[in-house]
This record gives sequence, C-alpha cells and structure tokens, in this order.
Amino acid sequence: MRVPDDAPPTCPVCGVAYDSVSEHDAGLMVNLLDNVAYRRVCFDPVILDGRAHVRFYHHTHRRVTGDGSEE
Ligand SMILES: [Zn+2]
Repeated sequence: MRVPDDAPPTCPVCGVAYDSVSEHDAGLMVNLLDNVAYRRVCFDPVILDGRAHVRFYHHTHRRVTGDGSEE
C-alpha cells in the first residue's frame, strides 16, 4: 500500500510503527468490527494543497478474530 512521501516514520497519533497509510479526501465509512487485518487504525487529519484530508495509519498485529482474541 502506498505511504505518502511526507508521512512521519511513526504514527502521529500513538507514536508507534505502522504498516501502511491510506489517504482520503472525501467522506467514507469505517467499520473496524469486520477488519481482520488490523487491530488499530489511527486517524490523522491533514491539509494538502489547501484541502482537508484524513490519513489512516494501519497498525498490523496478529490476525484478530473479532471476538477479542488473536490467532
Ligand atoms: Zn497509531
């Protein structure tokens, strides 16, 4: 997955390493309950070329099962 060139080396929200960054310039729906790949996604708002964007910092962990346990 693409990581923006100006993204910091660690997550600007929680300060730990991340797996990937996605960048969005429009509204979107987030459903983390069904996300089996990432335990945590941090959201960081940024202004790029005068427009609001939000970056999602995806933190990889072992697969989560959705019931609070990990595989
Ligand atoms: Zn984070």
